[in-house]
Amino acid sequence: MNDTAVDGAALRRFVERYAKLIDERKDELTELDAAIGDADHGTNMQRGMQAACERLPADGSPEAVLKAVAAALISKVGGASGPLYGTAFLRAGAAVAGKAALAPRDVEGLFRAALEGVVARGHAELGDKTMVDAFAPAVDALGASLDGGSSLAAALAQAYEAAARGSEATIPWIARKGRASYLGERARGHRDPGSLSTTLLFQAAAQSFDPASEARDG
Ligand code: ADP
Ligand code: MG
Repeated sequence: MNDTAVDGAALRRFVERYAKLIDERKDELTELDAAIGDADHGTNMQRGMQAACERLPADGSPEAVLKAVAAALISKVGGASGPLYGTAFLRAGAAVAGKAALAPRDVEGLFRAALEGVVARGHAELGDKTMVDAFAPAVDALGASLDGGSSLAAALAQAYEAAARGSEATIPWIARKGRASYLGERARGHRDPGSLSTTLLFQAAAQSFDPASEARDG
């Protein structure tokens, strides 16, 4: 895969990589949600991404792959995160409709559309201690890196780092959206679980759209 051809197969690798990362970090996601929610974020995401992998079209377009994930998440994940990530993947799919291969700016566009979907659905702002606190800085870093002339792989690595920093930053905050907002001051000292699952989303992208990682993984 070269830097200008993120095709349906690359999108499938991205989805499968995300499912694997969720699987590996499921217990940690659930422990974070146990602290400030209802202890189901890991199992929610694991169930949803497993269903997504089962429904992936074998040779679908980027749009078909992303919409299959959306359908799986919306139908299999209850709670806040299912509709939020479902909307994200739905908007991402719509953003790349009709394209067989995505240029770096198309990849930026799909993640920006995904973020806009999360915000349209959940109305969270930066600092509310939600997945948006990882998502928004990641999309900004992706765009800024491409503006600066970085390759897609390098820009996605920057996006992943920005998501991780944004997630870490949620730890001392109180929450203003979702279940954690009922806790008031007691939410302080705990990372928002959705900000970690979003960080993993950008980790998966950095690992799947990077030509070097494909060579590593074989
Ligand atoms: P639930 O809270 O219904 O149990 P999950 O535990 O699967 O659902 O997901 C919780 C995560 O969803 C939170 O950590 C937060 O990141 C995210 N979230 C909740 N409400 C919103 C919202 N309005 N906007 C954005 N993200 C939200
Ligand atoms: Mg929960």
